[in-house]
Amino acid sequence: MFKKILVANRGEIALRIQRACRELGIQAVMVYSEADREAKYVKLAEEAVCIGPAQSALSYLNMPAIISAAEVTDAEAIHPGYGFLSENADFAERVEKSGFQFIGPTPESIRMMGDKVSAKQAMIKAGVPCVPGSEGELPDDPVQIRRIAKAVGYPVIIKAAGGGGGRGMRVVHTEAALLNAVTMTKAEAGAAFGNPAVYLEKFLQNPRHIEIQILADKYKNAVYLGERDCSMQRRHQKVLEEAPAPGIARRLIERLGDRCVSACKKIGYRGAGTFEFLYEDGEFYFIEMNTRVQVEHPVTEMITGVDIVKTQIMVAAGEKLPFTQRQIEIRGHAIECRVNAEDPFKFIPSPGRITMWHAPGGPGVRVDSHIYTNYFVPSNYDSMIGKIIVHGDTREQALARMRTALGETVVEGINTNIALHRELMVDAKFMAGGTNIHYLEGWLAQHKR
Ligand code: ADP
Repeated sequence: MFKKILVANRGEIALRIQRACRELGIQAVMVYSEADREAKYVKLAEEAVCIGPAQSALSYLNMPAIISAAEVTDAEAIHPGYGFLSENADFAERVEKSGFQFIGPTPESIRMMGDKVSAKQAMIKAGVPCVPGSEGELPDDPVQIRRIAKAVGYPVIIKAAGGGGGRGMRVVHTEAALLNAVTMTKAEAGAAFGNPAVYLEKFLQNPRHIEIQILADKYKNAVYLGERDCSMQRRHQKVLEEAPAPGIARRLIERLGDRCVSACKKIGYRGAGTFEFLYEDGEFYFIEMNTRVQVEHPVTEMITGVDIVKTQIMVAAGEKLPFTQRQIEIRGHAIECRVNAEDPFKFIPSPGRITMWHAPGGPGVRVDSHIYTNYFVPSNYDSMIGKIIVHGDTREQALARMRTALGETVVEGINTNIALHRELMVDAKFMAGGTNIHYLEGWLAQHKR
């Protein structure tokens, strides 16, 4: 096992990884930008290294600074968390070339999954169900483009191979709009992602977002840890998540999970990963794979009892997965609300000093957050300041626990979206379960203020 790991991230996930290291008896070296000097995990750290100014490009995305921090502190491995450099294959490669273990999959796996065209091709080959569409990148020939779209059937969606974060996509409803949409998406993709390649898919009208969590080791052992429902989204960004997904037959999930596991074995995947799917009319369609730990991993931890971050570290150190598929049992129901420093209904970011923070507690309640009373939320980063996660024997109990937890939570000095979560937890449609990816935006339009 490693003696020392460098945590190349910030915020709640940096604290989460620090906690996992502590439990494993590993020293965690924390890095921080000048804006994060006061962070809780920096104060709690045995060792912390300033890697640059507030701007991410000069600190959390600064590969030489992070690698030097690992060198000067004698760390053996680097945990990238999520966001920042976590899905950057060049970074993973540089980490390994510099003699450190990257806590994640191989650079080749990251590269393959980072290009959505090659990811989809690999998944089709591995028997994972995908959205019908073009076989790989769209050709330049307009006649062929029209033929492909017609065969798939309108509406279609044009997507950038290098896209991410909900950007680089365009829905096309008629043939008249097709070629122009392809040209525009290509131009945007070239500018935004440095890769103009685009592909075409059938546009699903009312899907849910369902994802499968997997864990794999270096010895081709892999398991899936059930699914998560992340359909409650605003601008393709997840707002709250739950597990299991309400109303989906277990045998469908089991069949899908088995496919994901065999795909992992086929591509030699190691570490934690998530297969994201759209689900409509009883069918799953792969859209992308995330090759890192995800924000919403705690709901899976709550229903399986598996510590995903600790397992990531153990398999990166060369250990075998400590459980088999048969030992994974799903128990109860978990919900996570992402707490963002923003106006709850207008979504304007609200950085600044937190004058009062009171965290909820009690049975089945977990809070993953680096904030504290008198903490200053910097304006330089994502607005998420923590996550409230609850577990109950049933979905109803989990909902009741989340209402209680949100009722206890106090954040003063800045705005947060807790008021939004409180309303969603008593919304009849959400309470019934199974809302699709457009539901939240529709709800927000109706509840404008
Ligand atoms: P990103 O990497 O930018 O998050 P994804 O491929 O994961 O891109 O897609 C993000 C979101 O876009 C999905 O959660 C879904 O809301 C929508 N989307 C993507 N592909 C389709 C599709 N074929 N049909 C309908 N919606 C889609």
